[in-house]
Amino acid sequence: MDRAGDSDTIDIDWEDVWAHQPDGPLTFTHNHPLPGSFSADDVAWGLKARVREVRAVDAFNTHSLRYKPNGRVSAGVLYLDGRQRIKSVNERAGPPGSHGWRDELDRVWSRLAQRYDLRYDRCEAPGKSPR
Ligand SMILES: [Zn+2]
Repeated sequence: MDRAGDSDTIDIDWEDVWAHQPDGPLTFTHNHPLPGSFSADDVAWGLKARVREVRAVDAFNTHSLRYKPNGRVSAGVLYLDGRQRIKSVNERAGPPGSHGWRDELDRVWSRLAQRYDLRYDRCEAPGKSPR
């Protein structure tokens, strides 16, 4: 399925998502016009929508977060922890989209992935699938 949003957000109907994954969870891929890894919303949404993997593609990288089928972290916890850490990155590593900010954002998701037993990968070439 294909949906267009504005530069920051996209409206997705969960019924629509589930209608497209009758045989199991899918991979949700979206673009980031402003280069950088996931927002807290991206990652919490993916968990709530029960997708297997979320991917964000920007001009430099493809970012991937994979969930465990029976993972124990809740979308609320993941969202709050992610939001808090991203806020801190925005305060000390701005401006958003800069090289330093992007690296810090990657570190946030690497650490959260370790903490909550998820898998985070960043692939250098945009559009390429992380292994
Ligand atoms: Zn996103």
